[in-house]
Amino acid sequence: MSRVYNFSAGPSVFPVSVLQQAAEEMVEHREHGMSVLEMSHRSKMFTDILADTKTRLRRLMAIPDDYHVLFLQGGAYTQFSMVPVNLMTQHRRAAYINTGSWSKKAMVEARKVGEVVEIASSADAGFSYLPELPDSLPSACDYVHITSNNTIYGTAFSNMPHYESTTLVADMSSNILSQAYDINQFGLIYAGAQKNAGPSGLTIVIVHRDLVGKAPANTPSMLDYAIHAKADSCHNTPPCYAIYLAGLVFAWLEDQGGVPAIEALNRRKAALLYNTLDQSAFFRATVAEPHRSLMNIPFLLADDGLNDTFLKQAADAGLVNLKGHRSVGGMRASLYNAMPEAGVQALVDFMQEFERTHG
Ligand SMILES: *Cc1c(COP(=O)(O)O)cnc(C)c1O
Repeated sequence: MSRVYNFSAGPSVFPVSVLQQAAEEMVEHREHGMSVLEMSHRSKMFTDILADTKTRLRRLMAIPDDYHVLFLQGGAYTQFSMVPVNLMTQHRRAAYINTGSWSKKAMVEARKVGEVVEIASSADAGFSYLPELPDSLPSACDYVHITSNNTIYGTAFSNMPHYESTTLVADMSSNILSQAYDINQFGLIYAGAQKNAGPSGLTIVIVHRDLVGKAPANTPSMLDYAIHAKADSCHNTPPCYAIYLAGLVFAWLEDQGGVPAIEALNRRKAALLYNTLDQSAFFRATVAEPHRSLMNIPFLLADDGLNDTFLKQAADAGLVNLKGHRSVGGMRASLYNAMPEAGVQALVDFMQEFERTHG
């Protein structure tokens, strides 16, 4: 069987050249005579890989020197707890923007630590749009939490809000490295790697130095950013192989021309699919124009009864994992960085043929 076009929301498509390089280096990594899987995390072999991965990420995202870059475990989900434990220390209150399942889960964990103020929500219309954000906060907050891209509902913020005297925390799990952001707008960014940056098992945290070191003394070590920052992500054994693979993905991204180049490509890919949806009476995008994600594109068929046929015929044509999330229904195509333009073209061609034969 040849490789399919994989539209999974995560874990998701990898660049083929990265998979090939990893395969070539699996048994003997370069001149080291052993696999990365076998290296001590304290060895120079591995600390060189760690440093290289970090340098590439700093370069790609233009991360200023006053931010730590941490490679942690536990997924974005663990950050739902680590963020409030480390940051909700002065006012014991934080503002959350509720744009769907992941924001809600982040709020559930934050409420275990302190007070959560929901400053905006799009729950009233099934999270199919982005809510208007208030100009100012109702009370003093330690941070404002935003989900930059909503993986399930297919909405994304193109501009980040700014609030005086507090800091912005972003869950960027599903659009990190897909478009350029000014890091200075954020106090902290976190992302599970498995959508756009590497394999699951690795969590990226980018945090301003001023926010680190404020966790209460009884904070478990593994939940304390200061401990991970001081140990350069090696307080315990880090996810070594995942860090190595992320490094290969970052090198691939640099070869593509970096984030601005991939953003231009991502905009082309998304436009191809959105235009197809907008020009059809048979397919319909669930999100309206200014709120649309470049990464996750949910869409419905005019006749729900054809969903299973669509999915089966798509899979037969090598287009897989298009089933929508159960809370939206229909289809969802995730067009992460590693999805080639040819994959989106193949999907669009398939959709037009499907409409011709079933519309
Ligand atoms: C996938 C996802 C998560 C969950 O990530 P884990 O690494 O599985 O914990 C959280 N937030 C967003 C926006 C996601 O897309």
